Amino acid sequence: MVGLIVAVIIFYLILLTICTIIYSKLTSISIINPLKKLSSSARRLKEGDYSSRVNLNLKNEFGELECIFNEMAEQIQQEISLRKQSEENRKKLILDISHDLKNPLASIMGYAEFCNNNADLSREEHSTYLKVIYENSLRANNLITDLFELSKMESPGYAISKTKVDICEYMRKEIGALITTFDKFGFDYDFEVPEKEINAFIDIKQMDRVFQNLADNTVKYNPKGTKVMISILEQGAEMIIIFKDNGIGIPAEIAKDIFNPFVRVDSARNSQTGGTGLGLAITLKIVVAHGGNIKLKTGVNCGCEFIIKVPKI
Ligand code: ADP
Repeated sequence: MVGLIVAVIIFYLILLTICTIIYSKLTSISIINPLKKLSSSARRLKEGDYSSRVNLNLKNEFGELECIFNEMAEQIQQEISLRKQSEENRKKLILDISHDLKNPLASIMGYAEFCNNNADLSREEHSTYLKVIYENSLRANNLITDLFELSKMESPGYAISKTKVDICEYMRKEIGALITTFDKFGFDYDFEVPEKEINAFIDIKQMDRVFQNLADNTVKYNPKGTKVMISILEQGAEMIIIFKDNGIGIPAEIAKDIFNPFVRVDSARNSQTGGTGLGLAITLKIVVAHGGNIKLKTGVNCGCEFIIKVPKI
């Protein structure tokens, strides 16, 4: 009888030991496997594979860890790609600047040297070459001034000085100034400014620059007889200023990047028009500094419609 009891106890002890071993094995697998997967993904991330993610399919604390790890990896991947993009933009900007400065400087140097080496040039020839030198130095100077303006606007401490302004009244005055430009170049125009008061916080000097840029572009890139239309609308908490022409327009594939520095439709024509390729980039920065935005609707031979939205008060 005693022997039987001892045998049963021993049997149960052995069974308990086996169960404990199996249980601890299973537990360790359910801990070690996810840990292994996590550490291998973390290692791949560390080695520069920012697409590395963990897939555990667990509903316990490891599941939570999986979510946190994947979110962190996603953030790192986004930040790295942003950093790469801005590094590429910086390189492209430097390349564009050097390219755009090289041409006028080469011209200035060439003509100055030519004048210097040819003492027998006539008065007319001299003045022609001086004119070329002057125009090219103007081009280089415009580029540097615009670049300085743009980089000032991109610096963290940049702020505009806004005052409360009745936009309708402001636009009437602005249009009065722009008409001189449109008349000079033989452009048609039409304006729709409501007979009421719509107030907004505006930096007048900067906003003048926006409209002067848009008007200068219209007359620079479009033929005589093109019609310009400026109108003001209210939409909810915003005020919309539409600056539209029925000119040559901009191809869609270029228009999508047109507010980036140095994006131009025809760089050859640009050197004739004296454009720096920075006007619309500066325009965008000014409108954004007012808490607004600017969009362009255009297409080849469909004209350009710039839609500026600014919060009203
Ligand atoms: P730019 O100094 O060259 O004028 P912008 O940034 O002001 O630089 O303009 C970028 C380009 O957009 C111009 O080079 C021109 O090709 C095109 N563009 C701008 N406005 C107009 C317009 N109203 N009609 C046709 N093309 C335009």
